[in-house]
Amino acid sequence: MELSGLNTVIIGSGIGGLAAGALLASRGALVTVLEAQGYPGGCAATFARQGYRFDAGATVGCGFHPGGPMDMLGRELGITWPVRQETVAWRYCHGSLTLDLDRQGSGVLERFPESRAFWQEQSVLSALLWKLAAGGLPWPPASIADLALLLRKGFSGFPGTSRLLHFAAKTAYEWLVEHRLETNAEFMRFIDAQLLISAQATSREANAVNAAIALDLPFSGAWHIEGGIGRISEQLALSIEQHGGTVLYRERVERMHTIRRQVFGVETSGGLSLAADLFLANLTPASLALLAGISSDSPLLRQKGPVHRWGTVTLYLGLDAAIAAGAGERHLQIIGQSGNPGEGNSIFASFSMPGEEGRAPRGCAAVTVSTHSRPEPWFAAVGKSREEYLRLKSTYIDKMLDLLALHIPGLREGIRFLEAGTPLTWERYTGRHRGYVGGYPQTSLFDVRDPATGFDNMLLVGDSVFPGQSLPGVVTGARRVVELAGRGVGSR
Ligand SMILES: Cc1cc2nc3c(=O)[nH]c(=O)nc-3n(C[C@H](O)[C@H](O)[C@H](O)COP(=O)(O)OP(=O)(O)OC[C@H]3O[C@@H](n4cnc5c(N)ncnc54)[C@H](O)[C@@H]3O)c2cc1C
Repeated sequence: MELSGLNTVIIGSGIGGLAAGALLASRGALVTVLEAQGYPGGCAATFARQGYRFDAGATVGCGFHPGGPMDMLGRELGITWPVRQETVAWRYCHGSLTLDLDRQGSGVLERFPESRAFWQEQSVLSALLWKLAAGGLPWPPASIADLALLLRKGFSGFPGTSRLLHFAAKTAYEWLVEHRLETNAEFMRFIDAQLLISAQATSREANAVNAAIALDLPFSGAWHIEGGIGRISEQLALSIEQHGGTVLYRERVERMHTIRRQVFGVETSGGLSLAADLFLANLTPASLALLAGISSDSPLLRQKGPVHRWGTVTLYLGLDAAIAAGAGERHLQIIGQSGNPGEGNSIFASFSMPGEEGRAPRGCAAVTVSTHSRPEPWFAAVGKSREEYLRLKSTYIDKMLDLLALHIPGLREGIRFLEAGTPLTWERYTGRHRGYVGGYPQTSLFDVRDPATGFDNMLLVGDSVFPGQSLPGVVTGARRVVELAGRGVGSR
């Protein structure tokens, strides 16, 4: 189908909505993005507060390696990303164990030499997956043409792709058992911590193929984004405008007009009413259901698909720069001595660069700290009383600061600014129902959601659809949406 002149309205300017919008606009579609907030990026935004610019959620740039999804997107749109490769992706800390995750993986191999064969296999698998995903992966297949393309890709990757079948139905844990690593508690803790942040599930549940690519993130390289991760969405919004599109801020879509399987138009908080041929919802399925006024298990949302499981608690710290320098690396992943991962028992902390333009007042650094947290107890607490909610919030703040203080001497004395976000904050800020963030748990290659919504002219984009979370993940999903739109799927 001709994309040129295709009138497209996108609800939300997260990375997925913007990447799809920029690709569509560059191919001649008439794109309008409606964003509830005053700036783009959603979970990957950078926001301003009292002289600081804090990364809201995402902090690590990945997928910028040559041929990676971000690299390819930039080339296609003529964008030079403001990125610089980090020597160490992040530093993993548990008790006295410190591992710097660099591209060579040397620290991990030195500490866990018994895992060498596992990493060799992981590297072969992930190289194969990156190759298969290059230029888009028609998964889950939506047509005979998709199946044919998958077969073509599969055969061209042969015999490697036959190896994939061996892993497709396994969990990461079963894969680790094959390497007799499951009894190595320190190694398993390390793997689970990596999988939780990049696959939203630990080894017992994460699918082995998903785990291979999730574990590859630090080894395929991490990039620092000059000025904050929000620069990526700002560049994408600019690209849409340069191709004749529009990105409108403070325009929350509050109403959808539908008749049976057609969306006719949307209305915004600012009083706009817009009709379109194609609508893209950069929303979670639950948020789309609420907007459409249907139940989230309505056949109109068609597929069951995996559901988001995690929310987050985030801290935004303005820190004395001399104290922040004690971190030693730009990103620290700190695991506490006890307890399951998440819930303040493990944190990921990211620091602005010394002297980085516009990120913090002179002599200070902007720091984002996050931990996985189940949203349900937060909503239960606020359901009881505001005091109960504030008590829970203050417990998490203390726990997270205590963990960070283990690796940053003088932390508490160095704090110049502190704000915290809970799943309630995240719900309000991103419009994601119940504040579920970070993509769906990658427990199966087959139980995944494609962009179809059940409305004939609306597609989903973002980290709820395959392949899920992260900048490269949602950009890969956005490509799929554009490809489907080009075939007339999702258009009136
Ligand atoms: C704490 C945290 C840390 C993370 N760390 C990393 C990382 O280091 N690296 C990485 O690559 N990824 C990371 N991720 C994941 C990554 O940020 C997300 O997967 C990705 O940004 C999600 O993009 P999305 O397209 O789904 O849109 P979202 O980020 O969900 O954005 C949706 C947008 O839609 C807008 N919106 C919602 N409802 C409406 C409405 N009704 N009308 C108008 N606008 C609306 C919202 O305001 C928002 O701007 C992290 C995520 C979190 C939460």
